[in-house]
Amino acid sequence: MANVAVMIFRILGLCLLVLSLWSLVSGLPAMAGGPFLVNAEGVAVVWDNSTAVAYHPESGSCGSFSNDDMLTKIGENLSFWSGIDDITLSFDPVTDAIGSVDGTNYSSLFTASSDCGDEGTGVTPVVFDDDGEITDDIFGNGNRFSVLGFAGPATFNDDCSEILEGQAFFNCRCQTGSPSGSCPGGVVFTEDDLNFTIMHEFGHLLGLDHTQVNQSIAEGNCDSSVAGDCDAVPAMYPQSVDAEDQMTPSRDDQVAALTLYGGSTLASNFCTVSGTLNDANGDPLRCADIQAETGDSADTIAVVSGASSPQSDDNGDGDTQDSGECLSNCGDFILRGLDPSKSYTITIKPIDSQWRGGSGINPCNSSQLDYVEEEEIATIAAGDCAGGATLALETITTISCPEEECGAESDTGGGCSCVLDSRDRSGNGFIPFFISLLVVFGGWKMTGQPFSFMRK
Ligand SMILES: [Zn+2]
Repeated sequence: MANVAVMIFRILGLCLLVLSLWSLVSGLPAMAGGPFLVNAEGVAVVWDNSTAVAYHPESGSCGSFSNDDMLTKIGENLSFWSGIDDITLSFDPVTDAIGSVDGTNYSSLFTASSDCGDEGTGVTPVVFDDDGEITDDIFGNGNRFSVLGFAGPATFNDDCSEILEGQAFFNCRCQTGSPSGSCPGGVVFTEDDLNFTIMHEFGHLLGLDHTQVNQSIAEGNCDSSVAGDCDAVPAMYPQSVDAEDQMTPSRDDQVAALTLYGGSTLASNFCTVSGTLNDANGDPLRCADIQAETGDSADTIAVVSGASSPQSDDNGDGDTQDSGECLSNCGDFILRGLDPSKSYTITIKPIDSQWRGGSGINPCNSSQLDYVEEEEIATIAAGDCAGGATLALETITTISCPEEECGAESDTGGGCSCVLDSRDRSGNGFIPFFISLLVVFGGWKMTGQPFSFMRK
């Protein structure tokens, strides 16, 4: 077998942030508190944080924002990540490195795919796509009116344990004051949109995945004209439902970032919970979202089972969710950062069916396990798990039953009985276990992961 890590990185994970206005498009796909990429050993792929993460902004402007404005804006929004307590993370903006970038000269800076150890562009380009030509060129005509930006890691060291270069593109076509004029349908990208896009996309560039923490709040009554009503919706939630509120750091964002770049206090001052999930047949249950919740929604922390398991993209389709691609420990999880003075309920939840492909949450980012049943698996009383302690929940047999068992009428009590939830009932029979990647995403997959932006 060749270097399996090479295969994992054949297709890059790029998050693509899309603006969707109700009047133009309904239901565009939008993008857990875990790593965006892991190598073949299941180790999160990170930057070397012993030095500052260098990035290379172009010299152009973005809508009404001058180059100086943009440099200031990026620096301010990156402090969302570098300002977290006990994180070691700093940035080094290198100006005058790549000149002015537009649709005619961007291709030498854009990395569509790479393998471990591939030579890169020598820079981490940060591009302001002022007229949207780059966005249209990569994603198709008309995307300049909806895509806000896209970014991700770009190149890696030989064993894909370290990110060497990244890339970030911000589409400025519909920014207020664009020299290209107003956009069809009155689409306007606001300054909050731009700030949030910078924060979210640099989160991916640093190696952070999406999270579905506090989905019920996000899908409730988030009102962008009411400050603070959706502060508990994380920055790395797959959609922007209230850009300004989501720029308030949530515990899930903090723990995800500290897991990659934090100091010793995450382990020494907080409680860690570990465990292994099995399905009702006793097989490892991968791709279940495990959420630790207190009475305060801002505290919620989530991880996905098997997200950091050894894995191999054997069929080269850019994910490791297919049969046999998880190599071991596929139902394992570790929740970090729980406050020892608080009581928690640990619940597993299915990853919502709308988080697919570019909207995905690893490791099952092109298809969810539709049979995962919401289930409380543990409660932790205040003081039961001290700072520095690890509470091992061992192996938990859940009620979740694999799809292929459904319809077998084998409700014997010891293994699976078929439980259909409301999503299943909405179809005419059983929904397919895996939806075809090509059918759902077509050409998206080759260039990256779409991220949808819903505005309410
Ligand atoms: Zn994203």
